[in-house]
Amino acid sequence: MSAETAIESIFQQVVRRNPGEDEFHQAVHEVLETLGPVLVKHPEYAEHKIIERICEPERQIIFRVPWQDDNGHVQINRGFRVQFNSALGPYKGGLRFHPSVYLGIIKFLGFEQIFKNALTGMPIGGAKGGSDFDPKGRSDGEVMRFCQSFMTELHRHLGEYTDVPAGDIGVGAREIGFLFGQYKRITNRYESGVLTGKNPHWGGSLVRREATGYGTVFFVDEMLRARGQSLEGRTCLVSGSGNVAIYAIEKLEELGAKVVACSDSNGVIHDPDGISLETVKQLKEIERRRISDYIKHRPRAKYHAGASIWDIPCDVALPCATQNELGETAARRLVANGCIAVAEGANMPTTPGGIRVFEEARIAYGPGKAANAGGVATSALEMQQNASRDAWTFEYTEKRLHAIMRDIHGRCFEAAEEFGSPGNYIVGANITGFRRVAEAMLAFGLI
Ligand code: NDP
Repeated sequence: MSAETAIESIFQQVVRRNPGEDEFHQAVHEVLETLGPVLVKHPEYAEHKIIERICEPERQIIFRVPWQDDNGHVQINRGFRVQFNSALGPYKGGLRFHPSVYLGIIKFLGFEQIFKNALTGMPIGGAKGGSDFDPKGRSDGEVMRFCQSFMTELHRHLGEYTDVPAGDIGVGAREIGFLFGQYKRITNRYESGVLTGKNPHWGGSLVRREATGYGTVFFVDEMLRARGQSLEGRTCLVSGSGNVAIYAIEKLEELGAKVVACSDSNGVIHDPDGISLETVKQLKEIERRRISDYIKHRPRAKYHAGASIWDIPCDVALPCATQNELGETAARRLVANGCIAVAEGANMPTTPGGIRVFEEARIAYGPGKAANAGGVATSALEMQQNASRDAWTFEYTEKRLHAIMRDIHGRCFEAAEEFGSPGNYIVGANITGFRRVAEAMLAFGLI
């Protein structure tokens, strides 16, 4: 059987065993379709069924999260933690609170996390968790009661040497605070290393808040440099207006690019003079409002409800909102408008059709696994600081992040060349991450 046929049969088995989990199937397919050349070079991976084992989570936890809203009504949500792979270290990966969350979303994110974490070169396994809880419009008290109930069950599955969650969509510094407080109370341990993304006043790392957005920009900068180009003077689009988007905009501006648009799930802001980051931060980080309010502060900007941000002409596009937000039509529009680079701050934001368009056009395309790995890498730096009871400066931590992103770019670039797909960062990222995990799993015997 050829490597391709063997891989297709593994994929069909994954689809059969995990019915209805479309995003998980998509994430698995995207990795598996690049692994053919690795199986040819390493027949021992097939013999020991490494791919089949990696596609099966080590443990999946699903639990009830009951809580009381401000009107005294009982609410019930569902909590998830999928501990996918711990070959390289304790499980590590964020928590997402969003109404769209179900097992298929958490599994796609957990699966991607395995390879992303391996790619950082740091000792962390892969996991993801979350809930279908919608924090939008909820009071601080409601969010606190939800987080306390969520952690009341989850705490027994966590630990600094076991599983270390962080934030993701809908989980920022406020939620991490409530979750950590409840963990500390239940366990009677001040175990700083059990969660990352903490406030720097009580064990968090400087630069963690900025890390995913900054890292994505460092990655796109490296891709452009590899082609003899730079970010200076480039017009950019950044979708979303949450944690990743805000700090991607900040770093793009620092590096001399101009960001003309950002968005939320309701619409798009187009500000040809350049987005006022101060206004976005005030609206999103402090007031927790919709991005449509931006035009009240910047009357020259335009708000387009329900529009696609990708219709706006740009040189560089950074999807930083959510999965499958950039489809084939949008990708064609970007290419037709002269876009030269796309780097994914979000996880799996480009559909398979969109990726094909970028590959055919041979523009620089950085998949989330590589481009947004700066977030989890800085979480690992937070764990290091917690373990050594130390706190590093902003400048030092950012330097470490920058070096990590350069290394990730270099590893992807070299692996893509070695396996016959020069310039293809998906191939480079998948193969580099996979090989690291596969080698550890082989060394451990049948696990
Ligand atoms: P936030 O919750 O801070 O922000 C999410 C942003 O995306 C908001 O502007 C939100 O708009 C928008 N968004 C969410 N869902 C949708 C949707 N269905 N359609 C359109 N827009 C949507 O999350 P983050 O910034 O932390 O995460 C963004 C992406 O980055 C996710 O894919 C996440 O997995 C990924 N990521 C995050 C990391 C981190 O460190 N935070 C690390 C690596 C990846 P609205 O307010 O209207 O919902």
